[in-house]
Amino acid sequence: PARLATAPRLRPDDVFIAVKTTQKNHGPRLGLLLRTWISRARQQTFIFTDGDDPELQLQGGSHVINTNCSAVHTRQALCCKMAVEYDKFIESGRKWFCHVDDDNYVNPEGLLQLLSTFSPSQDVYLGRPSLDHPIEAAERVQGGGTVTTVKFWFATGGAGFCLSRGLALKMSPWASLGSFMSTAERVRLPDDCTVGYIVEGLLGARLLPSSLFHSHLENLQRLPPDAVLQQVTLSYGGPENPRNVVNVAGGFSLQQDPTRFKSVHCLLYPDTDWCPVHKQS
Ligand code: UDP
Ligand code: MN
Repeated sequence: PARLATAPRLRPDDVFIAVKTTQKNHGPRLGLLLRTWISRARQQTFIFTDGDDPELQLQGGSHVINTNCSAVHTRQALCCKMAVEYDKFIESGRKWFCHVDDDNYVNPEGLLQLLSTFSPSQDVYLGRPSLDHPIEAAERVQGGGTVTTVKFWFATGGAGFCLSRGLALKMSPWASLGSFMSTAERVRLPDDCTVGYIVEGLLGARLLPSSLFHSHLENLQRLPPDAVLQQVTLSYGGPENPRNVVNVAGGFSLQQDPTRFKSVHCLLYPDTDWCPVHKQS
């Protein structure tokens, strides 16, 4: 898609950011996001979970959506959530859909800046490719026993990705109101791959790779410290890989801030009340 020469001002609430979470992560993961980047992107952010949590509801109100999808890490459950995210985005009328996981930090201003260089009426699918080659999948076409092979690129869900409204609307025969689930069954692939399948395999549009999105599948320590604040999304390795975090200085030790999200947040928004006070002499 052609970049816009003169970008019309994109407003924060033109963007719909869907955060995928699950009941057991509300405390351990979502709390951190609510205190950091979500606090600066309230109007843009919608939390998609799988269980009722009165405490979370109190903080997020109508922006917390219980998908009633099952709370398991299966293709069906994850595709169920993505389908609800998609439907809510279409319903919202907003210009951009972005999906992130609950272990992503989103730089809301960086995201807005990136999206404002594109037109939401063009076909835009932005994110970090999971693999260095297109995925090959067996495609079962409905009705017959025919299996064909499809090859397509997809953006890894764990790094976050965005879709323009124009493209999202074209996806609707395969993505809206429950059809996302049957589309996923056609290729028997997870939610993020299914998005790539619809965009590239079925619609013939292309993933636009962006190195500004990051998942913990990468070595996050290799991001230059002076580039961290310019990224659109970040992530962290978690308990299995606690050293896979971004390298960023700041007022918090690794013990105080094992994900580095607090440190990043305080560098981006030093006026936050819980950030270390920057002494001026
Ligand atoms: N998740 C979910 N249901 C589950 C397990 C995980 O919706 O039963 C979500 C989780 O909240 C996160 C994403 O799926 O947003 C990826 O999960 P996780 O980071 O634990 O695993 P990964 O695939 O990154 O290793
Ligand atoms: Mn993860």
